[in-house]
This record gives sequence, C-alpha cells and structure tokens, in this order.
Amino acid sequence: MPRRPENPGTCAYCGEIITKRGVSKHLEKCPKRQEALASAAASNRPVETLWHLRVLDAYNKDFWLDLEMVGSASLDKLDKYLRAIWLECCGHLSEFTIGGWGGTEIGKARKANAIFEPGLVLRHLYDFGTTSDTDIKVVRSWEGKPTTKHPIALLARNRIPEASCQECGQPAQWLCIECVYEEDKSGYLCDEHMEEHPHEIYGEPMPLVNSPRTGMCGYDGPAEPPY
Ligand SMILES: [Zn+2]
Ligand SMILES: [Zn+2]
Ligand SMILES: [Zn+2]
Ligand SMILES: [Zn+2]
Repeated sequence: MPRRPENPGTCAYCGEIITKRGVSKHLEKCPKRQEALASAAASNRPVETLWHLRVLDAYNKDFWLDLEMVGSASLDKLDKYLRAIWLECCGHLSEFTIGGWGGTEIGKARKANAIFEPGLVLRHLYDFGTTSDTDIKVVRSWEGKPTTKHPIALLARNRIPEASCQECGQPAQWLCIECVYEEDKSGYLCDEHMEEHPHEIYGEPMPLVNSPRTGMCGYDGPAEPPY
C-alpha cells in the first residue's frame, strides 16, 4: 500500500506551506524569520540558550508543532503553551515524563536548560482519564537573543488535516461526536449536512479545529497559540 503523504504545515513567520522535514531548512532562508532574528539581535534582550523543539501527538503524526523555547524558562511554560494551542478542555492534571506512563516524572518547575539535550524525548500527558499523549523532541540548541519577550515562540505548525463529509465526500468543517462514539462513523460533516444532522446527545456538531484533542472529553477548541 502506498504510504499516505505526511501532513504539511505552515511557517509561522511567512505562512508558506512546508513539510515537517523541511522546517529547519525553510527557517534558515525565510526572509521573515531572518528579519525577526535581526531585530532580536539588535534588541537589548540577553543572549541565552534557545531550544528548537518538535512537538508531536504521540498517536497521530498529522499533528505537529515546531517551537523555540528559551533555556531559562520552566517546563510549566511549555505545559501552558500546549494547553492553549492543543489541549485544554476542563483543567485536567498533566505531567512531563521520560518514558510515559510508569516512567520518570520531570517536575514542571525544572528549567529547560537543566533538562534538555539534543535527542531527548519528553512525553507530556494531559488528563489521566482520556489522556492526550504528546512527545516533545529536543532538536537542537543555539546561543542567541529570543525573538519575542515570551518564553516560547511558534516556528511552524501542521495544517488542519483534510476531512471529508461522511454523507457527501465534500470538505468537512464540522464533527459530530455522537456519530464517532455511537455509530462508529467518522463524524465529519460539511456545512450543508451539518444543518440537517439529527444528533444532539453530545451537543450540536463542533467546528473542526487544528488540535489532536478534537473529539476527546469536552474539548472544543479554539486551538490557537496563546501569544
Ligand atoms: Zn517562512
Ligand atoms: Zn476534559
Ligand atoms: Zn456533506
Ligand atoms: Zn451524528
């Protein structure tokens, strides 16, 4: 069977569509990223270690983020960022581990510089009931001035995966949770079929958003970065 092509993403600086594999290469020549680096270099922010992170949903590789994190920031900042862009539904508990369930917990007060090294993979668990498992791969570090005043900067993220309406095959913008749980269907609906859709036990169909937690627990987006 031919392998399904990887879900591409967009550069957070210029909006160009890029592959997951091509992120670093693109950023090196992206004029908007280079502008951001130049103005950071001219700023009075201190030079520090910056970490390039690749964040992946552990079970659905269509969902990925590339982040830049300042080394002096604690993992708590990363937890908050992941909640905002992907995960937050009802304020569940979360933790960072090496090795996932039963692995070693890494406290959220720990600083990136104290934990990270290239090649390290942390597993983030959100909600110990209906758990979202997220891998954070440390790609590389470099010394420089951060491009923003925030501890984390978004470099690139996946595009929302394409979904087709279960009724007509047209592009879908909605998800019916009842179809997923009770009828074993995809639950994807276009605007037209969402209008006349009969289900309501789990509420009206929800808008599809760019998060791997879509359809889990009470998650309803908005899947936007916090800054
Ligand atoms: Zn770009
Ligand atoms: Zn929840
Ligand atoms: Zn339809
Ligand atoms: Zn339905």
